[in-house]
Amino acid sequence: MNSGNNQFHDHDSDEIFDLYNAVNGERYEGLLDIRKLDELTDEEREIFDVPRLKELGAHVISGCAQCEAIINTLDWARGRLKKEMSVASPKQKNWQ
Ligand SMILES: [Zn+2]
Repeated sequence: MNSGNNQFHDHDSDEIFDLYNAVNGERYEGLLDIRKLDELTDEEREIFDVPRLKELGAHVISGCAQCEAIINTLDWARGRLKKEMSVASPKQKNWQ
């Protein structure tokens, strides 16, 4: 276990999820594009805690493997969702 550099890990996957949604899952040079946080509408700013998400975003793009893993899962879930919506396959096999 790596004990260093962990001071930010009071966040949980819900916050990562908010961050991911706030930037619409967009990437810049392979990292979450946190510049999108500056482009949010007023409405979105009421939904998201932007200063908090900015802090979290800075942490995420600093290369936190734990957060990256969560984001990759969200990417995967989103890709899967898109595929299922466009194909609308009637069979629900292989769900695991
Ligand atoms: Zn992290």
